[in-house]
Amino acid sequence: MKELDQVKENIARAAKRAGRKPEDVTLIAVSKRHDADAIRPLLEAGHRDFGENRVQEAQDKWHALKAEYPDVRLHMVGQLQSNKAADAAEIFDVIHSLDRTSLLKELAKLETKPACYIQIDIGEEDQKGGLPIKQLEDFHAKVKDAGIPVAGLMAMPPQGVEASPFFALTAELARRHGIDGLSMGMSSDYEEAVMLGATAVRIGTALFGARD
Ligand SMILES: *Cc1c(COP(=O)(O)O)cnc(C)c1O
Repeated sequence: MKELDQVKENIARAAKRAGRKPEDVTLIAVSKRHDADAIRPLLEAGHRDFGENRVQEAQDKWHALKAEYPDVRLHMVGQLQSNKAADAAEIFDVIHSLDRTSLLKELAKLETKPACYIQIDIGEEDQKGGLPIKQLEDFHAKVKDAGIPVAGLMAMPPQGVEASPFFALTAELARRHGIDGLSMGMSSDYEEAVMLGATAVRIGTALFGARD
């Protein structure tokens, strides 16, 4: 698949420029609002990491696709309501949006706790969700105490400004707190994110085209 090859090539180039290994960056194909017909070419090309931002939509599309491709890893990249935590943990393998105590409490109750990225409010904007940076130390300790595997930090820089300083800040916060994974970078800025240490990039438009 042409778009997939192109994005992978760009990731590999950015990784090498930064002295990193391309295989240390997971490409998450964000398939929200695209149907199974759009997803299949990626599955057939061997791609296995996909992202969705709504629990219901993920259930509708992925129960069948996961039955067909059992080694798919599904990533929840959207804001997650606490009352949907159990449903999310059933269909998703990884959650990128753990950002508050109410959600943490619901996830802590589950027998099998999914790996979670702690989403931080890197641009100090209210609308995107994310934990205030000041609370990271306490929250990180609570997540570990609850037995939830910490996959890393997730961040979305504010729109309309240069993203790189926010990626660098996210990487610095992770380093300071002894956290390894970094979920950062989308279609418009993933090469910068990879150069600044992203271990997971979340890409929709560059793979699937524009959403309705
Ligand atoms: C939709 C979405 C993406 C993908 O965005 P594109 O710009 O289409 O690559 C990445 N991360 C999150 C959290 C999203 O909601």
